[in-house]
Amino acid sequence: MKVFGNTQIFGVMGWPVEHSLSPVMHNAAFEALGIHAVYVPFPVKPEDLGKATMSLRALNVSGVNVTVPHKGAVTEFLDEIDTTAKRIGAVNTIVQKNRKLYGYNTDGPGFMLSLRKDGHFDPAGKKAVVLGSGGAAGAVAMALAEAGVRRLVIANRDKNRAEVLAKRVIKHYERETLPVALDESRALYWLIRESDILVNATSVGLAGNDRLTLNPNCLHNKLFVFDLVYRETALLKSAKRRGLKTLDGLGMLVSQGARSFEIFTGKRAPFRVMRTAAEQALKFAK
Ligand code: NAP
Repeated sequence: MKVFGNTQIFGVMGWPVEHSLSPVMHNAAFEALGIHAVYVPFPVKPEDLGKATMSLRALNVSGVNVTVPHKGAVTEFLDEIDTTAKRIGAVNTIVQKNRKLYGYNTDGPGFMLSLRKDGHFDPAGKKAVVLGSGGAAGAVAMALAEAGVRRLVIANRDKNRAEVLAKRVIKHYERETLPVALDESRALYWLIRESDILVNATSVGLAGNDRLTLNPNCLHNKLFVFDLVYRETALLKSAKRRGLKTLDGLGMLVSQGARSFEIFTGKRAPFRVMRTAAEQALKFAK
């Protein structure tokens, strides 16, 4: 890849950011479409998020993705936020136009596309449990509510955050929404036993060497298990051992990345190119 004086700059801000597959996916897409741009990782510590976001204007960075743990906090530094991202309370895509920063969220559409296309699962009328209450969980919860789930349970380590997210969902959708603590309690156990789909949207498993945060007996044989992390987590391993239908986060990663690419460039994303680049990078990382 050649970089010139007028090469457009894109990137991803996160902490840590080394694990991110976004640079390989987006650079492969730029190359495939002959777009004169480069996509780089920006390791941004939480205490530097404001300064880093403001400097996107000064450095004329065309756009960035935002990843763990900044998706919620970054919203306060933007000029405008689109309706979906506002509902979720989190932004994963920022575009700069005429020195203004616009925020979007492509996680929800990416999740839903992968759930339907890769998982062949239609959430309408189903009962769902979402683990987590951060930016990704917000996107997943809103997308499931919009898709017409019958009941939505939001389980988080910090129960207050689950309550805040449940209130956000209820504000926009008439769905039975229950916030609970993510612990070993019987309440969560039975709610999962009664559900059709379990989504892990916590960052447990992201760094590898994770352990299951749930009683494995709640994984009944009709449960669909979706883990947003794109490696085989302890949760996915346990679900597979029981013969359940499972899906990891790779399909969602590519789908949300493709949507971001389209927002960045206004061009149709080369989906297959992005998927192959992500798969190869994952193999290389193993
Ligand atoms: P985030 O905003 O930082 O939220 C992290 C969430 O994980 C919070 O709910 C937090 O609970 C929970 N958590 C962290 N450590 C935990 C632990 N040891 N036990 C139980 N819960 C724990 O992060 P995010 O942006 O929502 O991302 C969450 C995950 O989704 C990450 O793994 C990310 O890579 C993945 N993701 C994947 C895709 C994809 O395309 N596949 C897209 C977006 C995100 P507390 O509130 O109690 O701290």
